Amino acid sequence: KSNGHVSIKTPPPSPSPFRNSKFFTANLRILVTGGAGFIGSHLVDRLMENEKNEVIVVDNYFTGSKNNLMKWIGHPRFELIRHDVTEPLLIEVDQIYHLACPASPIFYKYNPVKTIKTNVIGTLNMLGLAKRVGARILLTSTSEVYGDPIQHPQTEEYWGNVNPIGVRSCYDEGKRVAETLMFDYHRQHGIEIRIARIFNTYGPRMNIDDGRVVSNFIAQAIRGESLTVQEPGTQTRSFCYVSDQVDGLIKLMEGENTGPINIGNPDEFTMLELAENVKELINPDIQVKKVGNTPDDPSQRKPDITLAKKVLGWSPKVTLRDGLPLMEEDFRKRLGVLKN
Ligand code: NAD
Ligand code: UDP
Ligand code: UDP
Repeated sequence: KSNGHVSIKTPPPSPSPFRNSKFFTANLRILVTGGAGFIGSHLVDRLMENEKNEVIVVDNYFTGSKNNLMKWIGHPRFELIRHDVTEPLLIEVDQIYHLACPASPIFYKYNPVKTIKTNVIGTLNMLGLAKRVGARILLTSTSEVYGDPIQHPQTEEYWGNVNPIGVRSCYDEGKRVAETLMFDYHRQHGIEIRIARIFNTYGPRMNIDDGRVVSNFIAQAIRGESLTVQEPGTQTRSFCYVSDQVDGLIKLMEGENTGPINIGNPDEFTMLELAENVKELINPDIQVKKVGNTPDDPSQRKPDITLAKKVLGWSPKVTLRDGLPLMEEDFRKRLGVLKN
């Protein structure tokens, strides 16, 4: 399929002296928006492992950091651009992984108008780019599109139970509009789309002050502070280790199914159970304390991953008890607290 531009995929008409140089080994140019963030930087690591890929990251560093990409800066197949996706972007790419959007409730509620602009205008711009250059685009949507779900576990057919005017709406309604835009560009303009509905994902490189539950508990346990379980503590989540998540995203991009497809780990825990696991693994001496919750906190969440298994041949491999110590190790290094 022609991209309407001269791409490095096109072989030169006659052997060129540059053809065998390190600058011309790549044949797929991949854009990762939000690539300086938690999931994005792990995705970049995996994409860069393949010598056929050239990776361009676009990020405004709101919640992401250059530190997450340090090992690639200066690499001939890598490029980092400071850019806000709510502004138009004119570059030439073959694939777009569109992740740019704060994912932690603390950060997406900090400037809710900006969050909805990022989801709506940002996704519109990336779709406009995909249309202009003929690129395939993958959106990282979220289990939050199911809201406070009445159906449990959640299948992709479930339309959700979402408050349109609540404090989380900038994020969950924003992602719902982003999904709508993806399907409208697909139907109206023939854009090749992929939609992942990501469920709670954790792992190394999460911001220490990110505010999400796994990073909070691990940092608290390492510092010897009480674990803050928000009331009632019986609410559930299902936690996916980041390497599994990245596998799922790449399989989805490479596969034939548009989605939406749930990508998450179906092992479900209450927040009290999570706290007990963290306590037992990291620091048995600490207390678990109940603190107030925020409005519209979903009371249960667990993905039905039948579709991902069937069409992507994907299922998660890392259990919570295997993943937590890997994250602990990274947090200890960054906090400068060694294990006794
Ligand atoms: P993150 O906050 O670590 O990463 C988001 C990245 O996007 C950051 O680097 C941030 O600086 C960048 N960004 C934010 N707004 C931007 C803008 N306007 N322009 C350019 N860059 C911008 O979050 P994450 O956990 O890595 O999440 C990545 C994606 O996955 C997000 O789209 C999120 O909604 C989705 N997701 C994540 C989870 C999860 O549990 N981590 C769950 C569901 C969905
Ligand atoms: N856009 C972009 N990069 C491109 C092409 C388009 O950022 O390479 C933006 C463009 O500025 C517009 C959006 O994507 O705001 C949607 O573009 P599209 O061409 O679909 O719609 P139109 O420009 O006709 O509104
Ligand atoms: N939570 C908690 N203690 C914390 C942070 C969060 O008990 O220090 C709870 C929160 O009430 C929610 C769950 O953990 O029920 C997951 O919250 P998080 O912000 O990690 O992600 P969400 O799934 O809500 O986007």
